[in-house]
Amino acid sequence: MEFPVQIYLDRLARDMREVEGGTPYQGIPATAEMDPALYGVSLTTVDGHSYAAGDSDHLFSLQSISKALTYGMALDDLGTEDVLAKIDVEPSGDPFNEISLQSGTGRPDNPMINAGAIATTSLIKGRGGRDRMGRILMTFSAAAGRELKVSEQVFRSEDRTGHRNRAMAWLLRSFDIIESDPEPIVQDYFRQCSVMVTAEDLSMMAATLANQGVNPASGERVFTPHTVRWMLSVMSTCGMYDDAGTWAIEVGLPAKSGVGGGVLVVVPGQLGIGVFSPPLDEHGTSVRGAQTVRQLADDLGLHYSDAP
Ligand code: GLN
Repeated sequence: MEFPVQIYLDRLARDMREVEGGTPYQGIPATAEMDPALYGVSLTTVDGHSYAAGDSDHLFSLQSISKALTYGMALDDLGTEDVLAKIDVEPSGDPFNEISLQSGTGRPDNPMINAGAIATTSLIKGRGGRDRMGRILMTFSAAAGRELKVSEQVFRSEDRTGHRNRAMAWLLRSFDIIESDPEPIVQDYFRQCSVMVTAEDLSMMAATLANQGVNPASGERVFTPHTVRWMLSVMSTCGMYDDAGTWAIEVGLPAKSGVGGGVLVVVPGQLGIGVFSPPLDEHGTSVRGAQTVRQLADDLGLHYSDAP
């Protein structure tokens, strides 16, 4: 017997394919060349049931969705106080690549904008025989419940074209927000953006966060509950950059977008949502991804103001 959820999701995917508008991210060749017709959606419940429709197993780069996960790693490694000393938690309302550094101290406003995310990466150190990137990949994989890989092709194009991110890293170094050579740090930032995932992976990662940091399929603890609170709060206020206010009204759920076309959304205590479709709006968010999440929030009554 087919679950009603599956029927609902198949219909949703069919409807969403009709939604037009947006352009795949032109910043790097690897995303600029993506087929704009691709669309995938996946839901995973906190008891580990997954549902998917469309191109839900198509690989794309994680991009800025990685920022929420490395922020969780830094919090678990260092504790909230030390992380807060380097990176604030205040929404800047700026686009993702804005140079939002506080005057005098150079502290980035939040870990979701690029400056804050690069500073976050600098806080993650090698440990237990693994270097920084090895640990990042291991943690992302644990959240997704399968072994993820970095796309060398995406990494190379990020590395070749990421002048603004590189400049930001050096600016952070000048303020001592970054305390070591910026070059390996910015390279690992490009690598974390180049980790390849599917919409199904995103929904499992989101379900791990909805489940207070425990992957609901494997039972593995990836983040502490205290860290998850920080991650979700910062995603709620800053995850959608200069669209965060509108998103709060229309969706009312912690979320993170990436220019690879992915959107990760958490329904705390209930559900993880992953959507993928390359064409982006002016905020760098997937047009069909955002539309899907608005539709799901409406149909399933997920907005926090809908709570009975
Ligand atoms: N790699 C991209 C950058 O650093 C990620 C941006 C994004 O997904 N919003 O510019």
